[in-house]
Amino acid sequence: MRSFTPKWRRASASDLDAGLAALGDWLGRHRRAVAVVQWAVVLIYLALLIVPPLLPMPEQTARIWSNLTLAAQFAFWGIWWPFVLLSMVLFGRLWCGVLCPEGSLSETISARSRGYAVPGWITWKGWPFVAFSLTTIYGQMISVYQYPQAALVLLGGSTVGAVVIGWFYGRNKRVWCRYLCPVSRVFGVLAKLAPLHYRVDLNSWQSWQKPRGGAPARVDCAPLVAIGTMKGSAACHMCGRCSGFRGAVTLARRSPNHEIVNVAGSETNAVETLVILFGLLGLAAGAFHWGSSSIYIAAKQFSAEWLIEHRLMWPLEATAPWWIFTNYPDQSDVMTLLDGAVLIGYLLLFAALVGIGVGGGVAVATRWLGAWSPARFHHMVQSLIPLAGCGVFLGLSMTTVTLLGQNGIFLDFVAGLRATMLIGAAAWSLWLGWRIAGIYAGGRRRVAAMLPLAIGVTAAAAVWASLFWRL
Ligand code: SF4
Repeated sequence: MRSFTPKWRRASASDLDAGLAALGDWLGRHRRAVAVVQWAVVLIYLALLIVPPLLPMPEQTARIWSNLTLAAQFAFWGIWWPFVLLSMVLFGRLWCGVLCPEGSLSETISARSRGYAVPGWITWKGWPFVAFSLTTIYGQMISVYQYPQAALVLLGGSTVGAVVIGWFYGRNKRVWCRYLCPVSRVFGVLAKLAPLHYRVDLNSWQSWQKPRGGAPARVDCAPLVAIGTMKGSAACHMCGRCSGFRGAVTLARRSPNHEIVNVAGSETNAVETLVILFGLLGLAAGAFHWGSSSIYIAAKQFSAEWLIEHRLMWPLEATAPWWIFTNYPDQSDVMTLLDGAVLIGYLLLFAALVGIGVGGGVAVATRWLGAWSPARFHHMVQSLIPLAGCGVFLGLSMTTVTLLGQNGIFLDFVAGLRATMLIGAAAWSLWLGWRIAGIYAGGRRRVAAMLPLAIGVTAAAAVWASLFWRL
């Protein structure tokens, strides 16, 4: 039966496509306007990063609208992090290409760099997972959400890294963003869900011919994307510079499921599997859990008793500088070496248990779809991206809600919204799993594979739910 699409709907769809293509072109051609916005963000970022550590700690009565330290804390952890994460799912990595201060600084410095070729150690594929894990753990060790000097060390350290790498390697490139940024792979994974991307038409790309006598056509893609073979949007910073290039690149809409179902299988990636299972679902969840965890308290008590029994008192008393373990006696907030060691052990164990548990469910689902295949396993793990992203967004937005509450603004609708988002994200992950499974098997195998996948998804959702509701 022929489907009928009303004329008005066809017209509005093509208007939308034309509007998006024009927007992509505009972004690519108005680099000056983009640069003005980028430098405004850089200035605000540096001010919020550098000034608060120079000020005294806020009084009890201080508010986010009257105290710069609290305003910076709210800007970084209440708005910036959760909503940058959300923007990845809505607009792809537009934040990276247009607004990120580290990306802007790294690319600007790179224009005057020493221009060295990127060495092999930088391109090691494990960096995104290692850097994300280390910064997550270190952030908890120094209480990065609470203290401005801790934010300066962690965020500032990353910014200095971006500038130094930009100074030495590449020319007009973002080598830091491509290979070393601690959140680059997390952003790339989430951007796969975005309904917008720069679509490359392979036929137009290959059949394009340079106009006679024209200048050699090239695009300086700062994050080093191979534009001609780009199928997904994980590495693209959505800067628009290649929009219209060779008549083949267009900002276009797509189904939010498209990349994960149809593209991720041919670009399977063990590092992304580690980031999703152990990084986002494991370590990031643990970083939000430990402060209210009875297991963490019990582990500390057990360790303390064992040390006392063995007359080893120094780990219970010794402290470290604030840039190693939280140390603010004025705020009655001090971590002993024992506190710090148990914290690190808790985070690592939490990440391992969640990663292995949830990954185990996906592994069984993979096996039930046919003979064992690592590529299929990595593809199935991609189905967890909506749940992983939603969990981290909800975890980060806890800080938003807490800070607003401390300032007398109470969001009563939050509990219902959290439950709706978590259930919706789990359902989305299951739907993606069902679609991916359908590529590899049909009938009973496909249905059977959904059972272990559903157990894995439920376990991951329960970990996040236990953060907000006692289960
Ligand atoms: S492929 Fe490169 S140049 Fe094109 S939009 Fe993405 S980041 Fe920009």
